[in-house]
Amino acid sequence: MFALDGKIALVTGASRGIGRAIAQVLAEQGARVVVAFASQEAAANEVVSALCAAGKQAEAVQLDVSDSARVDAVIADVVKRHGKLDLMVANAGMSVDALLLRLKDEDLDRMLAVNLRGAMACARAAIKTMMRARTGRVVFLTSVVGEMGNAGQSGYAATKAALIGVTRSLAREVGSRGITVNAVAPGFIDTDMTSSIQGDTRAAVEKQIPLGRIGTPADVAAAVAFLCSDEAAYVTGHVLRVNGGMYT
Ligand code: NAP
Repeated sequence: MFALDGKIALVTGASRGIGRAIAQVLAEQGARVVVAFASQEAAANEVVSALCAAGKQAEAVQLDVSDSARVDAVIADVVKRHGKLDLMVANAGMSVDALLLRLKDEDLDRMLAVNLRGAMACARAAIKTMMRARTGRVVFLTSVVGEMGNAGQSGYAATKAALIGVTRSLAREVGSRGITVNAVAPGFIDTDMTSSIQGDTRAAVEKQIPLGRIGTPADVAAAVAFLCSDEAAYVTGHVLRVNGGMYT
């Protein structure tokens, strides 16, 4: 199930956390994975080395998704070298947490540029080649916060809620070309993004999760692998919640 042999995948923000786990599972399922990083080249190279040592196919590339020209160039280069791009996983994201009263314009602009415009730029560049191929998969990483809201995260929530609108709209735009567009909405996942939440606050979060534990990057990666697979061919415009029941 979920075999991805012969597929070419690009995963943004794959140097760490959820993106790293996605790159690993896609490669384990047989895809050749382009592991994109923004700043952490050594971490991305480690991901690639470990995969190649295990007989999988992977390569690293620097890609700050807020630079649309760079997004276009990287995707054009992937298509030139491998002949196609089958799977686009727009995972890169960041958060500057602040109550709206204290949220600075520059922090809001940065979140919009990376989480929303960056993800859209990746999808736009990817569907150009997918439309010609009349097949392809786009997966966005949204968040439980985009649906549920969270005090101190109105800016981040805005970007993630917007991605849900993008998912549903783009699914309608490209469905006739054999391309599916879906989003995965993780709950609270144990990565660098959530590492500052410790102690009583972390325990309080855990209490809100019916499955009784914080999620792992692998929990999310499995859902992405499903959406990338042939088995998910009839799933599009969907937001798949991977949140332990925290929000249903
Ligand atoms: P993370 O551990 O903080 O890792 C963030 C990744 O995004 C890194 O690989 C980083 O690259 C990359 N990145 C940051 N800014 C970038 C930019 N401008 N261009 C390209 N890449 C950039 O985050 P995570 O927890 O794995 O989150 C991954 C995705 O899941 C994000 O979209 C996040 O919003 C979403 N999410 C996370 C949670 C959670 O609880 N962790 C919950 C819901 C949704 P470098 O390492 O090279 O800097």
